[in-house]
Amino acid sequence: MSAEVQDRRVDIEGISISTDHFIGGKRVSSPNTFEVRSPLDWDWKLADVARGDAATAAAAIEAAQQGFDVWSRMSPAERGQIMNNLADRIEANIEKIATIECLDMAMLLESLKLRVIPRAAVNFRAYADLAAEYQERVWDSKGTHNTVIRMPAGPAVIITPWNAPFMLSTWKCAPALAAGNSVILKPAEWSPLSLSLLADWINGAGFPPGAFNIVQGIGSELGPCLTGDSRVKRVSFTGSPATARHIGHAAAENIVPFTAELGGKGALVVFADADIDAAAQKASNQFHDSGQVCLAGTRILVEESIRDEFLHKLTMYTEKQIQGDSRDPATTLSPAIHPNHLKNVEAYVDNARNRGDRIVFGGQRWKKDGLWYEPTLIEPKSNDSEVVQNEIFGPVLTIQTFTDEAEAISMANSTAYGLSGIIYTSDAERAERVGRAVRAGTVWVNTFLIRDLTAPFGGIGISGIGREGGHYALEFHCDLKTLQILEDSVH
Ligand code: NAP
Ligand code: MG
Repeated sequence: MSAEVQDRRVDIEGISISTDHFIGGKRVSSPNTFEVRSPLDWDWKLADVARGDAATAAAAIEAAQQGFDVWSRMSPAERGQIMNNLADRIEANIEKIATIECLDMAMLLESLKLRVIPRAAVNFRAYADLAAEYQERVWDSKGTHNTVIRMPAGPAVIITPWNAPFMLSTWKCAPALAAGNSVILKPAEWSPLSLSLLADWINGAGFPPGAFNIVQGIGSELGPCLTGDSRVKRVSFTGSPATARHIGHAAAENIVPFTAELGGKGALVVFADADIDAAAQKASNQFHDSGQVCLAGTRILVEESIRDEFLHKLTMYTEKQIQGDSRDPATTLSPAIHPNHLKNVEAYVDNARNRGDRIVFGGQRWKKDGLWYEPTLIEPKSNDSEVVQNEIFGPVLTIQTFTDEAEAISMANSTAYGLSGIIYTSDAERAERVGRAVRAGTVWVNTFLIRDLTAPFGGIGISGIGREGGHYALEFHCDLKTLQILEDSVH
């Protein structure tokens, strides 16, 4: 094994962060590193982080197997206590985690502190409770006594994207751990730092060595070494459809269950009977986090008769948005995560303009320096336009009109994605009808982003395979067994 036990640390704004992996309860280095910069100021190098390789993956899988032996034998209550201990540590360190995540991926500091990071603690608590509540199904049938047993599956590899990395990764790790699986988490290379902080609290919370491992590295190098190993028993991925195809192949090779939470191109449908002001304000909020939100309603579909009024209000609310440093409480619009990502967003808008789509507002970088892109609204030439059909993952919305409910539904369902949808209407029957007809894993009516963690969460079409949330994720992480004992044959 080329890896050596170390703990290389950097100091960022007074916060000490390890740049190494966390394997088998110890910090482990790699010979090579990759650079992490801040989107708030691209000249600011935050850290050189361990660049995991095949040896790192091998060590992590070995440790996770050993960790599994101990962790899977603990009772749900014991595991739940340890997960709650980790939640306590997250809650005690919200300021630190939020600061690092703000510097690393540029989400707004206030929102990280108040909403996003606290949710990570809730993720662990919710799954500690859900696992403890589980009752085995027991019944008699055909002369046998039957029990359904939920068995932890083994080491789980969890691969996560760069947006909201702390909240999102804990959301995926919590059910795996609660189910009794050991975890190897690989965060994204563009925002690896907040999850390195999490690793500092794993031993103190009481996890046995190897139950919860975090490895850093480049997806295309380290990823296949993890997903291609037959000792891994579950692969849980969040990211883009393109990467999901690679991971799906690897999982198929080993015949290992695989879930994928992928991109979205959600419709935001506004009917003439809606609260137009509330709808316009919510539409403008889709620019938040530089549009780097998989659930965002990026395709605005508005009823023809209210188009002008809606557009007027959307423009007004967007003019009130403030671009700036994500640490400033006044800022509402943050920069893109990375210069390459900004270039992608720019190319989408430039291509749209060149192909005859109309830029209603925005359409350029906010200023020459920095990674901010103006909130941009595009009226596409047709529903086939690239900006309507592809996930841009930037502060870019499209606006189209419809004349009746049937057309609204057909347009809402006209992309290959199916992650989320948002509907604005004041008509209860329409809310139910259209809500049922929109093909998406989650549909909100007159609201957005409210989540009950016991509800299923996932995508249809190229937005994903499988469901997270509640017992759905617990079942994914377990092997179910039916035990049948012939009645009166045992005493
Ligand atoms: P991505 O490029 O697919 O990367 C996701 C993760 O996969 C990263 O950790 C990446 O590592 C890793 N990876 C890359 N190639 C790999 C390979 N061959 N094998 C194993 N792992 C590999 O996605 P992203 O750009 O980070 O994230 C944005 C996407 O995620 C968007 O499409 C967004 O909609 C989606 N997303 C979906 C949800 C949801 O819940 N449905 C939530 C958030 C985001 P590197 O970072 O080193 O490339
Ligand atoms: Mg970063």
